[in-house]
Amino acid sequence: MVGDPVLSTPCREVSAFDAELGTLIDDMFASMYVAEGVGLAAPQVGVDLRVFVYDCPDANGVRQVGHFVNPVLGPLSSELDDSEEGCLSVPGPYHELERPTQATVRGFDRNGSPIEATGTGFFARCLLHEYDHLKGLLFIDHLPRNRRRRVLREIEPYEWNAPLPG
Ligand code: ZN
Repeated sequence: MVGDPVLSTPCREVSAFDAELGTLIDDMFASMYVAEGVGLAAPQVGVDLRVFVYDCPDANGVRQVGHFVNPVLGPLSSELDDSEEGCLSVPGPYHELERPTQATVRGFDRNGSPIEATGTGFFARCLLHEYDHLKGLLFIDHLPRNRRRRVLREIEPYEWNAPLPG
């Protein structure tokens, strides 16, 4: 949840492509699906490693599913889109945020093989959002200070930030 230092600290590079990394990635997919998110970064589950997963439609509505380890950002489009964006670690509020309409990410898969993805539309937004998490940035950190404060006031209790009833 926002406020936890792991979310505002740059993550460490993954150095071992071992079974533990595979388990982390599987757990992250499970957590993302339970939370009904379209992407999840390791710091959101308290792990300060450069890993994210996604299951997100692109500009053509085609479902894109994958993960990145030690990603680096490639070329971005100069064209921008200012759709609404939210975050599982800032549950409840959404806010418009300008992002490039196309983004390329290069990195490695769980076995250490090089991979690359070019996202369009919502998938580009997702790649950039998750990449930001690994730098210790939340989408609200891109907003002007007063809007950031307003978004933080709109946070709602969700299963993962409130005690369960009973
Ligand atoms: Zn997020």
